[in-house]
Amino acid sequence: MSCCDDVELIRGLMPLEQARSRMLDSLVPINDIVERELGDCLGGVLASDIYSPIDVPPFNNSAMDGYAMAYQSLEPSQSLTMVGKSFAGIPYNGQVALGQCVRIMTGAMMPNDCDTVVMQEHVCAQDDNITVNKQARSQQNVRRLGEEFKLGQQVLEQGTIITPRHIALLASLGFATLPVRPKLKVAIFSTGDELVKLGQPLLDGQIYDSNRFALIAMLEKLPVDIIDYGVINDDPDKIRATFLDADLKADVIISSGGVSVGEADFTRDIIEEIGQINFWKLAIKPGKPIAFGQFDNSVFFGLPGNPVSAMVTFYQLAKPALLKLGGGIVKPALQLTAKLTHDLRKSSGRLDFQRGVVGRNEQGVLEVVSTGTQSSSMMGSMCLANCFIVLPQEQGNVSAGDDVMIELFDSALN
Ligand code: AMP
Ligand code: MG
Repeated sequence: MSCCDDVELIRGLMPLEQARSRMLDSLVPINDIVERELGDCLGGVLASDIYSPIDVPPFNNSAMDGYAMAYQSLEPSQSLTMVGKSFAGIPYNGQVALGQCVRIMTGAMMPNDCDTVVMQEHVCAQDDNITVNKQARSQQNVRRLGEEFKLGQQVLEQGTIITPRHIALLASLGFATLPVRPKLKVAIFSTGDELVKLGQPLLDGQIYDSNRFALIAMLEKLPVDIIDYGVINDDPDKIRATFLDADLKADVIISSGGVSVGEADFTRDIIEEIGQINFWKLAIKPGKPIAFGQFDNSVFFGLPGNPVSAMVTFYQLAKPALLKLGGGIVKPALQLTAKLTHDLRKSSGRLDFQRGVVGRNEQGVLEVVSTGTQSSSMMGSMCLANCFIVLPQEQGNVSAGDDVMIELFDSALN
């Protein structure tokens, strides 16, 4: 390619943000709702806002193992008489007069008449008499009814992807089942005459089909069911038949390879023939042309064949699209600033997702180092990395000591 061609190509490239917002605007989330057991909801998409059905905590209780009393009792004397015990799940139901206290455990219900807990380490106890040997504050060490959530208060938003943290909260609120979105069905296949099944010997000119395994592994982290069509040869009839069949069975079709301008790149022509296509040359690196569009029943992504490009375009475009279609909230990636430890070469014109390793130096400052050769055919650069070094489209070379933006890999890549 000549230098002039390169400039022309760059002029025709669409910035990633523009492509991503056009794509997201065109996608309508699924509307169905299914009710599922809480234990089966991990990774699913919450289908409605969640309101607390109880006050949390549901009763005043102790935050410590110790002694509960009315604070007033500690004013005249630090010595009190113990009149009973309150355990978690077995409350003390008697009276507690001034000058008296109750032995209490963490999580146990506060007796009536008590508003303060002294931890046992601050008490000297002999038989039923205790002496408090540290000045207490009124109402200390008490978790108050409704102090975290009031009955009816919103606790989670529709579209939340359910993580272990959400499961913990929802279980604490007593939800046995949850309304979630049904999983999207995603069909996937690789195209290419050079691709060989794993476990087979390689003949001249052949390589293993790694993209399908990489993309399926990424899909498995998302709330989707996968329909695997395997490897399809560079044969227009076979590719067409696969798209048509997948369109009947799947909500989303993802292929890799064949979207470029080579003589065996049929994917683009076929989707143009049987669907509505948005074909983008994106101003990103790695990343080649990517086909995105609509068939009668499904949305499709034709990802580039180079393995790193396929993963990066999946991560930056297909993943947010799947989230939106599945009814999830799509959040922009969190970008952090880190100091580059060495010079980096970058030509202006494309947003670059170089692969890096970020960590803290001895001064506590975030530092990032590139994983080395950044060819889009080399998976080693992805495996060593824990983040993308995100170099803006118009950025040129970067020098050691410069601040750069990084995006930590999220669970789709980890
Ligand atoms: P293509 O976009 O089909 O021209 O492919 C670009 C490059 O990616 C070529 O070197 C292909 O051999 C390679 N490639 C395509 N599909 C795969 C795949 N499924 N796994 C690994 N490499 C692939
Ligand atoms: Mg190919």
